[in-house]
Amino acid sequence: MTRLFTPPHRALDVALEDPADGNLMTRLLEELAGRINFSEDAAFYVAGPTGKILFISAGFASVAGQPPEAGQIANDVFRFISNNGESYIRDEVVKSVSGGRARHVRSYHYPIFDNSGALIGIVGHYVEAASQNGMPAAADQNAARLLDQLRASSDLFWEMDAQGNLTALSNRATDILGKPAAHFIGQNLAAIGSFVDRSGRDAPPPEGIARHQPFRNAIFLMQGMAGQKYYLHMSGVPYFTADTGRFQGFSGVGVNVTERFQAEDQAAQAFRELEQAKEALMRRNVQLELERGRTEKALRAKTEFLATMSHELRTPLNAILGFSEAMTLKLFGSLSEQYTSYADDILRSGRHLLSLINTMLESAQVDGGEVVINTKVVDIAEAVSQCAMIVQMRAQAKNIDLGKTAISPGWKVRADPMLLTQILVNLFSNAVKFTENGGAIGVEVGTGLKAGMPIALITVWDTGIGIPADQQSRIFDKFVRGDNAPAYDDMGEGLGLGLHVSKRLAELMQGGIQLHSVPGKGSRFTLELPLAGTP
Ligand code: ADP
Repeated sequence: MTRLFTPPHRALDVALEDPADGNLMTRLLEELAGRINFSEDAAFYVAGPTGKILFISAGFASVAGQPPEAGQIANDVFRFISNNGESYIRDEVVKSVSGGRARHVRSYHYPIFDNSGALIGIVGHYVEAASQNGMPAAADQNAARLLDQLRASSDLFWEMDAQGNLTALSNRATDILGKPAAHFIGQNLAAIGSFVDRSGRDAPPPEGIARHQPFRNAIFLMQGMAGQKYYLHMSGVPYFTADTGRFQGFSGVGVNVTERFQAEDQAAQAFRELEQAKEALMRRNVQLELERGRTEKALRAKTEFLATMSHELRTPLNAILGFSEAMTLKLFGSLSEQYTSYADDILRSGRHLLSLINTMLESAQVDGGEVVINTKVVDIAEAVSQCAMIVQMRAQAKNIDLGKTAISPGWKVRADPMLLTQILVNLFSNAVKFTENGGAIGVEVGTGLKAGMPIALITVWDTGIGIPADQQSRIFDKFVRGDNAPAYDDMGEGLGLGLHVSKRLAELMQGGIQLHSVPGKGSRFTLELPLAGTP
């Protein structure tokens, strides 16, 4: 037997099977004593969080009828649990334990939370209703139905009198505030929360309240037990006496909009971030535009410089070439064999230098967008055989078979004939350069689609050294040469510009160049150009 209740309540002796229940109940009663003010003969029960009855007040039997046993789960607690742990009100007709008249009893059942917001118990209390005949009056039933509807359509409903004091408050308030709604009856609306603006700062009550006019969706902030914030949209309508029309008070409802506010805040935050990102992007764009302008200017300056330089270089180079050629041809008299061989060297080196200067100028022009393109319908077979002829001497010197370069006439592309020749000569020259003695070079033609457009695929293949996979994407870049390229150069170093220029030219003609190569087996360079006819 433990004595558990302190004055002003009557001390009661309760039998508890489990000492742990004693601790829990002490806590529960402490929580309760701070919150509710039951009279001595109040009828109430206290159950633990699992629903097990821990305490029955002495006044229980006289109001609520036969009390449940300690340790059992009472029917009302079952209802509470099956109501998803939400407060509820119940009206019933009760016969007192000793028999006698039936009474209409209203009971309130609600959860008790501790300061951390955890459910520590369930409390129900019972009051005898005024109804005389033992049955809830029809008006009461209507009112109860109305309350049910209100409960379903809102999260909170309330009523206040002309002085602004609460005369009714739904049990949903209990769930939020952790104190029985009944506790707030008679207190001002401010006892359960405060009007705020959308950003949570204190705001004056809606004007409608002072003017006795309806108000809608005023934002009302209620603070939960553990400090959680509940935002409600409060709406209210005034009511007046039917006979004199005197203002009586307000009734209203609150709809929990906390989640909606959170979602709105998150959306607003995301929008702000997006705006910031947009601004940053715009700033970056302006910077890029500036940089592009600068780059274009620099590129123009470079092209101009290269054009001027190559012109300046070509003038003296022409003199070197002309005079050394005259010397090799012994136009003006005999020359010792030694000098003739020197003159020969001067002529060959000079020609190489000239071709390097020309390539550089070309590359600068291609990059500077200064290439003028005159597209025509060109027969591929003709262009290919011309180019094969140009490299024939060099191929012969290495005993390379050009037999498979012949293709059937009738394949036509739309291209600038000069530029097409330049690309093909470059591909052929490379094929000869990077193929060992006794190898073979060939050409194949096919068709394909590029961005929905029919294209001719002109493949120049060789059985040469091939290109390692890790270098394949880079060799089209400017000034990039393969690692073993110098070993195959008869004329000194190339510049690594040929493929770069060729690819750019092909692109300028709505085409491109693809590479497929297996080191040690050979390479296939496929030139794509708009198709203009097939055999
Ligand atoms: P260059 O011939 O002056 O070096 P290119 O741009 O024409 O410049 O070629 C770049 C590099 O691509 C070459 O140095 C070489 O390594 C590689 N290459 C080009 N064509 C072939 C080929 N048919 N076989 C093997 N390697 C090739």
